[in-house]
Amino acid sequence: AHLDRIAAVDAAVHAFLHVDAEGALAAARRVDERRAAGEAVSPLAGVPLALKDVLTTTDMPTTCGSKMLEGWVPPYDATVTTRLREAGVVILGKTNMDEFAMGSSTENSAYGPTRNPWDLNRIPGGSGGGSSAALAALEAPLAIGTDTGGSIRQPGAVTGTVGVKPTYGGVSRYGLVAFSSSLDQPGPCARTVLDAALLHEVIAGHDPMDSTSIAQPVPPVVAAAREGAAGDLKGVRVGVVRELSGEGYQPGVQRAFDAAVEQLSALGAEVVEVSCPHFGYALPAYYLIAPSECSSNLARFDAMRYGLRVGDDGSRSAEEVMSLTREAGFGPEVKRRIMLGTYALSSGYYDAYYGQAQKVRTLITRDFDAAFGEVDVLVSPTTPTTAFEIGERVDDPMAMYLADLCTIPSNLAGNAAMSVPCGLSDEDGLPVGLQIMAPAMADDRLYRVGAAYE
Ligand code: GLN
Repeated sequence: AHLDRIAAVDAAVHAFLHVDAEGALAAARRVDERRAAGEAVSPLAGVPLALKDVLTTTDMPTTCGSKMLEGWVPPYDATVTTRLREAGVVILGKTNMDEFAMGSSTENSAYGPTRNPWDLNRIPGGSGGGSSAALAALEAPLAIGTDTGGSIRQPGAVTGTVGVKPTYGGVSRYGLVAFSSSLDQPGPCARTVLDAALLHEVIAGHDPMDSTSIAQPVPPVVAAAREGAAGDLKGVRVGVVRELSGEGYQPGVQRAFDAAVEQLSALGAEVVEVSCPHFGYALPAYYLIAPSECSSNLARFDAMRYGLRVGDDGSRSAEEVMSLTREAGFGPEVKRRIMLGTYALSSGYYDAYYGQAQKVRTLITRDFDAAFGEVDVLVSPTTPTTAFEIGERVDDPMAMYLADLCTIPSNLAGNAAMSVPCGLSDEDGLPVGLQIMAPAMADDRLYRVGAAYE
């Protein structure tokens, strides 16, 4: 049914870069055989899923939305991919994304933008717009995204779906093509909080192949979602972040958010206002740290080891081939970030830019620590606006970067955060997201509050 749905609507939505119909049907048949043989299978066995094209798969290409990796089939599966396969989850295909996960609209994909199923002239968010659009267009009931500065939560918000950035280190990054290694985190995308929790349990947990993976039990997210579904938040303290609302937020988004806060209070939560004074510096700190790490990580696309190779006709040096390949293979946003990051890390500037950004990162973490001393979760709108029009911000990188104003603090601090649908804006009728943030390894709190609210 999902393959039929993809065939019917994906020409218009363009959520997928690659669909593996045969592979999906074969995986589904294997689940049927295991069931018929009386084998115990996981709760998600046989459920179809859309996988962001930044996680490696041995049976499908992994392009990261870039010409640099067009047609590249990796020699190993990401740990997330392996865990999905072991659970019997049926991988339908790979979803579109901003090139190397850099962007907020999927317009930076080398393969053309994904469209928002709510309005095909609008963006589905990014970088994981393909995954969220696939959910909203009913092409898949589950999807995987990755979130470096908001790429799971912001697409979730603007497509009216659920997206979770687990605690940094909660889900393995092995086989996730690196953008900014200290921020990148894979996570579940779904249409309900309980679905996201079931998927979270499949993909989370310690992995010796990732040195930043946390060797602790997975927080009880499914139990928390079931508990939350009873709709009782008595005893839960919710902090509204003062710095993440007001000026610059669309009035329709602000009103939907205010109504959500009232509803949390009606469910029994104790709601207070909390100040996180350094959150205003999160965006500039992120746009030094993420490009710095990306300039180093993307050095591996050197035309020698894998991927695109341009101009290798025997007449040129390796350096010339490298340079021609990177010129042709990377799009403008990726080049901008490599240049920014190289500059910020260069000798003489390192302390002023990268070092300073790392100090700001510590201050933001301390803001969270202080806030979580008083409340169990923090809330804010997920994004300052609803889905903007395709083309509206492509020539204005600063406007594009603002989409992640509210999501970036949790990446910098490494804690857990969720976006859950929060009704429609009364201005334009488009979905709004409520962001819930919790301390590191307290991901279960997101699910308890999210399921109660939803
Ligand atoms: N939009 C942000 C950026 O462009 C975040 C991307 C992400 O989370 N991968 O960097």
